[in-house]
Amino acid sequence: MEEKQARLQRLKREKDAVILAHYYVPEDVQKAADYVGDSFYLSQVAQRVEAKTIVLCGVRFMGESAKILNPQKTVLLPDAAADCPMAHMADPARVRQVKAQYPDAAVVCYVNSTAELKMLADVCVTSSNALAVCRALPNRRIFFIPDQHLAHFIAAKLPEKEFLFNDGCCVVHDAIRAGDVQETMRRHPGAKVLVHPECRSEVTALADYVGSTAGILTFAQQDDANAYIVCTERGIFYELRRRCPEKTFFLVEGCSQTCTDMKKVTLDKVIAALEANAPQVTLPEAVLQAAKTPLERMLALSR
Ligand code: SF4
Repeated sequence: MEEKQARLQRLKREKDAVILAHYYVPEDVQKAADYVGDSFYLSQVAQRVEAKTIVLCGVRFMGESAKILNPQKTVLLPDAAADCPMAHMADPARVRQVKAQYPDAAVVCYVNSTAELKMLADVCVTSSNALAVCRALPNRRIFFIPDQHLAHFIAAKLPEKEFLFNDGCCVVHDAIRAGDVQETMRRHPGAKVLVHPECRSEVTALADYVGSTAGILTFAQQDDANAYIVCTERGIFYELRRRCPEKTFFLVEGCSQTCTDMKKVTLDKVIAALEANAPQVTLPEAVLQAAKTPLERMLALSR
């Protein structure tokens, strides 16, 4: 392992590269990264890093966002097949049809989406800033794509807005069922329940706290309880235990809570990507241009 880390450090220097990793990738990749965070944090970092090469340890839409924000940089995605199923769960034709039918509606696109969908959006959001961005929009009507659960969670907090919903979801969070959470609560009485807003509404209804991965981490750090049931992808446990070594965290009984695409990103693939300078994220110029505005608007609106 030390040998791999030394190789990685040497390659980073040679290629003038910086490693960005999402909380859901394997632990050894998080340990090797220069920056670890959720999608929002990674897009902020991608906008300001100076290195010539960004290695994005995550799924395709994250690499695309980094490329859209830094078209002049080389963006490497260690496993080109690591993709987010939810990113494809809105139909561009339907988005165009809704835009034509409701010209007053803002199309709000969760960053967990393809660049093609981002191109159709007025603004992008992440789970960290979706509420603030939707609230700040002047439009009363909002068409939120692709995640229905995050959309319903935000809509319930903004009764002054009218939401149009899409039926996409994260296959990992959608599979966390309320019955399993309740069973885990029975086994660990006193443990607080932390829930990601990509979960179903019957699961968020059981929560002591609902928030993005970054929000869950901050809550666990600042809260005074000592045990938590965590309803999000299991990769977050590495950072939870690192920040709160004295606390206990439980997975939901009977749920896998594993994103198989995030787990495709291994340390060996990070090294191989740097050595080969591939696979690179490339997007047509028109896509880079059109998808940049909604991403930059998100970063500006959430400031
Ligand atoms: S955890 Fe869900 S939203 Fe995140 S990459 Fe995996 S499938 Fe997509």
